[in-house]
Amino acid sequence: MNVYIGAHMSISKGFHEVPSNTRKINANTFQIFPQSPRIWKNKLPDLEESKLFKENMRKEDISFDKVLVHSSYLVNLASPREDVREKSIKSLISQINIVSRLGLKYINIHPGSYLYSTLEEGIDKIAKAIDFVFNQTDDKNIEILLENVAKKGTNIGVNFKELKDIIDRTAFKNKMGITYDTCHGFDSNYDITTDESVENLLDIIDKELGIKRLKMIHLNDSKFPLGAGKDRHECFGDGNIAKRNEGFKPFLRNKIIRSVPWLLETPGDDEKHKEEIIKIKSLMGW
Ligand SMILES: [Zn+2]
Ligand SMILES: [Zn+2]
Repeated sequence: MNVYIGAHMSISKGFHEVPSNTRKINANTFQIFPQSPRIWKNKLPDLEESKLFKENMRKEDISFDKVLVHSSYLVNLASPREDVREKSIKSLISQINIVSRLGLKYINIHPGSYLYSTLEEGIDKIAKAIDFVFNQTDDKNIEILLENVAKKGTNIGVNFKELKDIIDRTAFKNKMGITYDTCHGFDSNYDITTDESVENLLDIIDKELGIKRLKMIHLNDSKFPLGAGKDRHECFGDGNIAKRNEGFKPFLRNKIIRSVPWLLETPGDDEKHKEEIIKIKSLMGW
């Protein structure tokens, strides 16, 4: 079975180490942060480092366009605080420059939180920020993926209507896609544990956005039950998605889902992720 499956990998030993570490956990793709996710500062990898990274990608036979870069958690393009929003835009531009230097294509962002403003204002701010960012980006290959987030606080992007509203307002619709996070979706009441519920989810995505915008899956189980809105990831097979009805099977055997990369963002290290990948394959009989 030819699926793309991987996990979030550390960049602490350099980007160039990631491709071989990916193969060590039986994966064929990966997700990385472009920088430390909780500080503003970032550094463009030098040309030597990016050359080595690209060589190792080819050596390990990993496709550049199956890999995802997850932007830093500090970025909030919807912030009503102008200083934070400006910092976020600047930071996102430098993070995209890192993606470009590595020869990668997709950067994943959490749309943002509107805090003490309104959802409407937040959506507008995000779309305008995205336009500004694309106008500052020379690399025309780059695409931004909006991640669905847990229904919590003033998060934007808890359903596909909100993601659609953002995309509709940008001038760069052909460079926008989405990442579907199974834990966040479960938090927002999207069940995936029966064939019917999976069909239903894909119908909603298709109706709101067009199914082609679905580019990546964050494959996470949830510590809390359907609709809880807690945003607590659990290891694959140990959480409330696995326990409900047929668990992950209906989702993972779906043809559309199988055509996009699956990335684990579950607790634990590389060794744990390796075990989870084995678990997924044995569950699916691969
Ligand atoms: Zn995320
Ligand atoms: Zn995620």
